[in-house]
Amino acid sequence: MLDGRTADGAAISLRGLEKRFGSLAAVDDVSIDIESGEFLALLGPSGSGKSTILMSLAGFERPTKGQILIDGVDCTPLPPHKRNIGMVFQHYTLFPHLSVVENVAFPLKMRKVAKSERIRRAEAALKTVRLEGYGQRAPKQLSGGQQQRVALARAIVYNPRVLLMDEPLSALDKNLREEMQLEIKRLHSELGITVVFVTHDQGEALTMADRVAILKEGRLQQISPARELYERPANLFAASFIGEMN
Ligand code: ADP
Ligand code: MG
Repeated sequence: MLDGRTADGAAISLRGLEKRFGSLAAVDDVSIDIESGEFLALLGPSGSGKSTILMSLAGFERPTKGQILIDGVDCTPLPPHKRNIGMVFQHYTLFPHLSVVENVAFPLKMRKVAKSERIRRAEAALKTVRLEGYGQRAPKQLSGGQQQRVALARAIVYNPRVLLMDEPLSALDKNLREEMQLEIKRLHSELGITVVFVTHDQGEALTMADRVAILKEGRLQQISPARELYERPANLFAASFIGEMN
């Protein structure tokens, strides 16, 4: 089951995923099954295809080969808003001209939820990320960590089954990063949501994830529980990449 082709009932299945940009295979025949409620880290150096996998999962990139199944449904041709997925990026990209609560409610507006219901659900999401009472502020009145929490609230406001995060903490300083790591772990267990978390930081992957998938040049090198990466690295690349950790 190392390549994840066999498990049934997975929350997400990537099957032979390939994404080419011209002659470059940014993602090259990647197959992974992610269990419902699992916290999976995609780990690899810059350029290894992590973001391309996430963008394909979210529907912002169309794979050149392979399939993406979410809850058994083939989502490969579906646009982002038809997938039950929330996404947080490294740069949290809040709308500067909207208040915090309007930012969080935005995906509900896209989904044509009535205004009073939007505000109610946005306030609830703000409470979940511990920003109760911050709704009327402008994003720029908040710290970097608080803004990233708002981005998290916006990603979970429509109760997605899956939360995708692309290096969400790498713009934050060390203390804030550690605080947010705990916050994301808390959210993960509280919501029981399936998380795919991209990072190039070995320590972050190992402390946060149930399983870690190591990528190199678009190819999956190994996928295993964090502990096994130490004990049984699949190859020299995995061994030395994990060994670089300090
Ligand atoms: P990572 O997130 O692991 O740093 P990416 O998925 O961003 O890696 O990129 C994987 C490879 O694909 C890199 O070589 C990158 O330059 C290339 N790439 C990514 N997006 C594009 C694009 N839109 N057009 C051309 N090449 C791209
Ligand atoms: Mg990236």
